[in-house]
Amino acid sequence: MKSLLSISNLSKAYQANNIHALDDLSFECAKGEVISVVGSSGSGKSTLLKLIAGLEIPDKGKIILNDKVINNESIFVQPEQRDCDLVFQDFSLFPNMTINENIHFGKNAPSNKSMIDELISLTNISDLLSRYPHQISGGQQQRAALVRALANNPLLLLMDEPLSNLDSELKENVRRELISILKKLEMTVLIVTHDAEDALTISDKTVVLKKGKLVQLDTPKNIYKYPKSEYAARLFGKTNIVPLDMIPGAKHFFTQTSTGDDVVSVRPHQLILKQEDEQGSMPKIKGEVTSFFNNGRTSNVEIECKDFCFTAEIEDTDSLHVGDTKTFYVKLY
Ligand code: ADP
Ligand code: MG
Repeated sequence: MKSLLSISNLSKAYQANNIHALDDLSFECAKGEVISVVGSSGSGKSTLLKLIAGLEIPDKGKIILNDKVINNESIFVQPEQRDCDLVFQDFSLFPNMTINENIHFGKNAPSNKSMIDELISLTNISDLLSRYPHQISGGQQQRAALVRALANNPLLLLMDEPLSNLDSELKENVRRELISILKKLEMTVLIVTHDAEDALTISDKTVVLKKGKLVQLDTPKNIYKYPKSEYAARLFGKTNIVPLDMIPGAKHFFTQTSTGDDVVSVRPHQLILKQEDEQGSMPKIKGEVTSFFNNGRTSNVEIECKDFCFTAEIEDTDSLHVGDTKTFYVKLY
């Protein structure tokens, strides 16, 4: 597929604190692709979006959007000349305009009338159109900001944690709508999120940033299953980092930079109580159950084995008791 956005060797240090917010970053984004950007706080996610939008100037590197160089050592295309929109975490709706005026503000909005009507109904904000931003809740502002950005139908949509201020039920609905809208419009999107579920459900690919460096680029599912570092593994949820020699047969492992040891990421639900294969070749971990607590449908069980503490997620804990020595089988990906 042809790349719509190309980032090469992009670096940015902020003079104020001499922090290398981005360090020699390169990746490509194809037309119609949704790429999520994940990383801990301060890893450079927002800086990346700001550089692409033209709100910050890189120290080095090149940005190409739709075959046009918008940034290199001699070119800087002004933000308003770049066909990309940035939705901020803090909504940034214009306070002196109604929601309706906000939504129709973008230069491409007049030609997208029917799509805008659909977006308004999908996000449930039709009753709020005559109000001003300060007259609606944070979650409503976030949905209105989302509609405004989508309504402009830019070549590239940049979203900085667009779902972060929504409560969990609303978030799930908006996320579902967002996925269907993005796919329907074949939008090309870079979406910053700290929520692995967002990355897994919304994006085709994920860029993992750590201290301004790209540490993994793959489908979110592959990063979840086959992380290349403890950092990437933990960004995608709870996991056990287990020495490779405790998990014979594991094909996917990585080397811990701090210790030089080869280790495997084993998600809690990969530890099971019953052996599932007939040959009996599943790796196993035998240890003492030190605690467990029910978290609704499943229970988190802590197991101690050879000085390691494992967490398993088990559905049926009727036969488990604290102090039991049990064998847990490892279902490898
Ligand atoms: P993220 O969005 O991943 O949390 P940011 O891109 O906002 O990270 O920030 C990356 C690093 O750059 C952080 O250490 C942050 O403190 C620093 N930083 C961001 N913006 C500025 C700025 N305007 N001036 C100085 N330092 C900044
Ligand atoms: Mg940020």
